[in-house]
Amino acid sequence: MRIALVSSEAVPFSKTGGLADVVGTLFKGFLAMRHDAMLFIPFYKRTAEQFGAAVRDSGIEIDIPIGNAVRTCRVFTGSLGGPTQNIYFIGNEDYFFRDELYGTSAGDYPDNDQRFAFFSKSVLEICKKLDMAIDVMHCHDWQTALIPLYMKTLYSDVPALKKTVSIITIHNIGYQGLFPPQTLEITGLGASVFNPEGIEFYGKVNFLKAGIVGADLITTVSKTYSEEIRTPEFGFGLDGILRKRGASIIGVVNGIDYEEWDPSTDAFLTHHYNKSNLRGKQACRKELLEKTSLNSSLRGPLVCFIGRLSYQKGLDLLAECIPDLLTAGANIVVIGRGDDSYQTMLHDVKKRSPGGLFFHTKFDEPFAHLAYAGSDIFLMPSRYEPCGLGQMIAMRYGTIPVAHRTGGISDTIEDNKTGFLFEEYSAPSLMEAVGRAMKTFSDKKAWLKMIQNAIGKDFSWKKNAQEYIAIYNYTIHQNRLN
Ligand code: ADP
Repeated sequence: MRIALVSSEAVPFSKTGGLADVVGTLFKGFLAMRHDAMLFIPFYKRTAEQFGAAVRDSGIEIDIPIGNAVRTCRVFTGSLGGPTQNIYFIGNEDYFFRDELYGTSAGDYPDNDQRFAFFSKSVLEICKKLDMAIDVMHCHDWQTALIPLYMKTLYSDVPALKKTVSIITIHNIGYQGLFPPQTLEITGLGASVFNPEGIEFYGKVNFLKAGIVGADLITTVSKTYSEEIRTPEFGFGLDGILRKRGASIIGVVNGIDYEEWDPSTDAFLTHHYNKSNLRGKQACRKELLEKTSLNSSLRGPLVCFIGRLSYQKGLDLLAECIPDLLTAGANIVVIGRGDDSYQTMLHDVKKRSPGGLFFHTKFDEPFAHLAYAGSDIFLMPSRYEPCGLGQMIAMRYGTIPVAHRTGGISDTIEDNKTGFLFEEYSAPSLMEAVGRAMKTFSDKKAWLKMIQNAIGKDFSWKKNAQEYIAIYNYTIHQNRLN
């Protein structure tokens, strides 16, 4: 089966969040399973700086119409180490050689509609030019969501794509790629799709909706979230159109890369450990306390938060609870980058706190690895969470999650066994779960049992990749029947 994964980010080449982990890991998984998989991603400035030496310029240039203009796509290729050049990097310096992937802390780049319409068209143009007969075009999130609709409209006559099924995975429905009506011209899709059954959304152009109405199948990143997004509470206005697609929405829990996230070999860690020998975890904790200048003889739990500073991640709840957590005897490490307003909120809390709080405002992989390993508790107060990788990584490192029961968190954490869940999105509810965690923490034997339970869970990519292959086969089969 020939599978194309299309994403705006994928590890190790580019990353702002879980999307990159999931797509990069899935790609690696498919290759390990010996599937004929390829990956399409933009060629960002950061990618060029870090991986430029390993990337080849194919010399192929393709003109891509964007509105009234024509932009050039230069195709670069690469591999994950094997002989086959199965990674296609879409190059355009104007669009992708910027400091960030989507925007700065002040807001999104204003031409994101052009950038990702260009990216989506480029992928299809490459397939056309190189006559790549692809069985499954698997797109991820709004940045690539025009592709399924393009395949049913502008590109429906491309011989190489005649039998291709398209799948869109919604990693987070809170991000839809919403643009003014003028964007319609940029997409080239024409007025016939600008209606409620198409990509129109309250007078605007909605990229994700193009995927929802155009794809042969929709998947999302956990079973619970696949149901939640069909309700007004979680659907961000798209629940109606999703309900219409009913059976064509499937939830598949994300997997993580157990080679990258492995406390017994983690290249970012000085001290290593495993389920049966946790001494290295204590050494990581000591190192984390030292590096953050927190209380080196801390008796209470070391609590960490790692994530984007955004509305979704429950930063208001975190900020509200920090004083109580400190009073209860915990120390806290927060690693996060994102909205200015949340940075300010956390800086204010820090100013008012007597100590015991360390706040790091960078995207910092090495430091995140140390925090996963060296902490006792991983706090995840997300307002909503499609799947969430943080809690799975934390469990792999024997760090017990305290999290809001929502979306994928419900599917991955067992309350009182591998973590502590709170039901209601409120500070008292969070503190109640923290209270249970702290009580267990003070009982060494019970805490060790929880650590063993958490480390013993299997969140590796294998199950996830196998489920996707089954879904691909099902979609191909359904397509043949129609
Ligand atoms: P989301 O995709 O919504 O951002 P996930 O929990 O699915 O959230 O995935 C987040 C990923 O990004 C995890 O791998 C997490 O470790 C990583 N991450 C988030 N913020 C940072 C940061 N500031 N520094 C390093 N890694 C981060």
